[in-house]
Amino acid sequence: GHPGLTTFGTTVFTEMTALAQQHDAVNLGQGFPDSDGPPEMLEAACRAIRGGVNQYPPGPGLPVLREAIAEHQSRFYGLRVDPGSEVQVTVGATEAIASTILALVRPGDEVVVLEPYYDSYAATIALAGGVRRTSVLRFPDFAVDEASLRAAFSERTSVVLLNSPHNPTGRVLSRADLELVAELAREHDAWLVCDEVYEHLTFDGVEHVPVATLPGMSDRTITISSAGKTFSATGWKVGWLTGPAEAVAAVRQVKQFTTFAHSGPFQVGVATALALPTDRYAELASTLQSRRDLLVDGLRCAGLEVSVPAGTYFAVADVAPLGGVDATDFCRRMPAELGVAGVPMSAFHDDPEAARSLVRFAFCKQEDVLREAARRLAGR
Ligand code: PMP
Ligand code: GLN
Repeated sequence: GHPGLTTFGTTVFTEMTALAQQHDAVNLGQGFPDSDGPPEMLEAACRAIRGGVNQYPPGPGLPVLREAIAEHQSRFYGLRVDPGSEVQVTVGATEAIASTILALVRPGDEVVVLEPYYDSYAATIALAGGVRRTSVLRFPDFAVDEASLRAAFSERTSVVLLNSPHNPTGRVLSRADLELVAELAREHDAWLVCDEVYEHLTFDGVEHVPVATLPGMSDRTITISSAGKTFSATGWKVGWLTGPAEAVAAVRQVKQFTTFAHSGPFQVGVATALALPTDRYAELASTLQSRRDLLVDGLRCAGLEVSVPAGTYFAVADVAPLGGVDATDFCRRMPAELGVAGVPMSAFHDDPEAARSLVRFAFCKQEDVLREAARRLAGR
């Protein structure tokens, strides 16, 4: 295999979904919704297929989608981005992350990330020959630790790869957290790459603040998002990034030779979805908030301590009371023994001590599915 990737093995999502299927368990592991997104979006993609949008789209993405992305940034955040030079459509947020890191990180450069981190970050940084430097968020409040964050920066820092709302903790970084990261990025003349795929999935009135809206940050920030999360279409793999033309041009150079172009009809569907009225975005968040409450109650009834997430569709619980002192081992047994699948937090950590008996559960599922999972976990 690739020398940078030998330690990574099979992703935890693949492993846990396979176990869930094998044991007919309720799959709260890999995060994907069990219902479809907006019907207008589905219909627009079908029409595009029937209408012959079936050959290579332009590498940067279909103009109709790039314009819809620019309008979205303006409507929700007051950000002005040029659809021609400052928007790039990607194969999900995953390609946006990979192509940005490959474009901006030179061998030996350091990349600062909050730990736990989404699993593709470490592998992608390794592919680029970069070195990750982490600052740990700790259960149950997952607060940003200023001292360790400062210590993660050095004269070799070239990129900060941030994620808010944050998978797997469900934490939404506050404006103060973001200002601290922004200040450190400016001090070290680093790019700030912010994975904001859960931008519309926040609860209890908590607001997502895009880093690019902070003073002095738009010209060093690359913002990443994905239709997979906002419109419950993870299988479409339509994502995007926005940022300064210089960075987008560097990403385009990489993308030319990795995937070149992709998913024309799905891009049409996503352009339609992005243009939906604001209350349609809010509907998904409020549905998810009730599902979060259902899962959190269920986990508590099973005797677990839970960190209540302000965003994303994940909640982290301590499974020690169920005998899960080592969550990695516990998650391998849980589908067969309890009929529920989750993801051990160790998959997102360098530090096994910080991950200990913690498991991430997804709640982007129908209410009866969540109730069944709660019943099984409580041994009823
Ligand atoms: N970043 C984060 C934080 C995610 O949670 C995910 C999806 N699990 C991705 C990126 C990947 O998004 P996509 O499926 O659009 O590639
Ligand atoms: N993003 C989803 C999660 O965190 C799944 C990603 C994947 O399967 N690679 O669960």
